[in-house]
Parts: sequence; structure tokens; C-alpha cells
Amino acid sequence: MLSHRLPSIVLAALVVTACTQPEDITYGESSSEISVGTAVTSSCSTATVRGLSIQIAQEVECMSPTSLVKLSPTTRIKFASSAVLPYMHSRAKADLVSAANVASLSVNSGYRTVAQQYLLYRWDQLGRCGIAVAATPGNSNHESGRAVDLGNWSSRVGVMGSHHWSHSVPGDPVHFDNTRSPDNRGQDVKAFQRLWNRNHPGDKISVDGDYGPQTAARLKKSPGTGFAKGAFCKAVERGTDLLATLLLCGAVLQEAAERRHAGAGADHDDRRPGIGRRTIVAEVDDVAHRMRGARDGGASRHGSDRHAALA
Ligand SMILES: [Zn+2]
Repeated sequence: MLSHRLPSIVLAALVVTACTQPEDITYGESSSEISVGTAVTSSCSTATVRGLSIQIAQEVECMSPTSLVKLSPTTRIKFASSAVLPYMHSRAKADLVSAANVASLSVNSGYRTVAQQYLLYRWDQLGRCGIAVAATPGNSNHESGRAVDLGNWSSRVGVMGSHHWSHSVPGDPVHFDNTRSPDNRGQDVKAFQRLWNRNHPGDKISVDGDYGPQTAARLKKSPGTGFAKGAFCKAVERGTDLLATLLLCGAVLQEAAERRHAGAGADHDDRRPGIGRRTIVAEVDDVAHRMRGARDGGASRHGSDRHAALA
């Protein structure tokens, strides 16, 4: 009885386990919400894609926990608007805090996602919103969490320079690059691709971190407030491990009980066969494999989209 019902039981338990973890953050999605593409002409603030951007940042945290750290505004580091995301690379954050302790900073833009960079790039192309310079999506140092634009830049070049921030981009005086942080460009693109696949199992794209035509087309269609399914990562792994442990314990106990039952001289022919440890191990492994596949890009192990699962 147990053996043929196990996969659905396991899946149900995994879903419940995963859905109760704090990493599983979801946002509402409805047809009335504007898409990233629509936001190009509807406003001049990247706050229109804040929900999606927070999901992308959280997915980056899932993929690479050391890449980004939280950066909250303080009395020394002021955020100019809700378009400023509360993230930065850890070294960049340390250097920003050190500089701010000498002279307060007004941040117009820090960590950016590919969705925000897309808007800035398009506004620059269209001559909208007074954008002076914008790198192509996927290619800005802001997307590595190692750049910052300051509103009070003109009086902060010295203090920023003495805290590992270079000020050297022609035509972009507000911009500073942290010289101690790694180039992690592409991570935000990869995070978006994972989110897209998780929410569109019938329209998967390659999870390669490259901002190409396929990714650009999906980004334009994405809701600025975020997908129905947000960042999702470690919870599945932990839930899978815990469930596998519990099931194996149950199987061991069942086998032991059956051996005792047989040894006590019971009617062997009527004894119902137990599920057995090997069956459970195989089924748990299969389910875990499928869940990891879903987590790592949403692709199954079967069919032509196998390559898309390689995150
Ligand atoms: Zn900048």
C-alpha cells in the first residue's frame, strides 16, 4: 500500500516543508501590474521594478550567499528614494560604511538588477529621464554590487578615494567603483533566468547568465512587482534531506518489526511484504533529484531542455 503512494506523499511533504521556509517568498502577480517593458515609457524611476528586483537579489543570495549583503540606510548613509535596493557586495559595503563614518553619503543608486539596468539603458537610448550614461543590461558594475552613485558626489571624491572607491568614469561624475570587490556581473541575469523558468515551466530559457535576445524578451514581459513564485533555494535541499532521514528511519523500523514477526512463527504466506529500505532510498533519491532540478532552473531530467537545468 505504501510503496505506490510514496512519491505523492513525499512530494506533498516536500512542498509543505519548502513552503514554510523563510526563503520561499512570494509576491502577488496580476494582469493589471505593469511589465518591465511597459515601465520604459510609464515612469522615470526604477522603483517600478522594485518587487522583481528584490526577488532577483534574493535569488542571487540563494545562488551565492557571499555575493551580496544587506545594506540598510542610516543617518550616515541616506537612500535618495525607494529605487535604491538594500544590498551591496560585502567589501563594497564595508568601504562605504567606512567612508560614511568620515562624511555622510547620499546614495542615488547602489546594487542594481538587470531589470533596473534594462530601464536605465532604454531611457538612455530613448533620451528619456536625463540618463547620462548607462551600461548595457548585464554589464554594469552596479549589477555586481560594487558601484554607487552619490547625490553629494562633488564633495565626497576625496573621502571615497581614500576608502577604495575609484571615481574614473568619463561623463558620469556621480559614479564610484569599489576596487576591492569582485566582478560578479551575470549573476543577476542568471537569477532572473531561474525565476523566469520557475514561473514559466512551459517556456524555459537557458540559465547561463548571458543577457541575450531570449532573456531580453522574457524580461520585458515580466511583472515589475515580481513573479508569483519568488526566490527559492536552500529550503528544498534541507527539506529533502530531513524527509529522507525520517523515511529511512521508518523503513528500518518496519524491517526490524517484520523480522521479529517472522521469527515469532507467524503465518508467513499472509504476511504483507514491506516496502524495504532499497525502495525508499530509490524513491527518495528520485524525488530529491527532481526537486533539485526544479530548484536549479525548473527543467526536468528528460527531454531536449536538459541543458537549461545547468545553472
Ligand atoms: Zn553608477
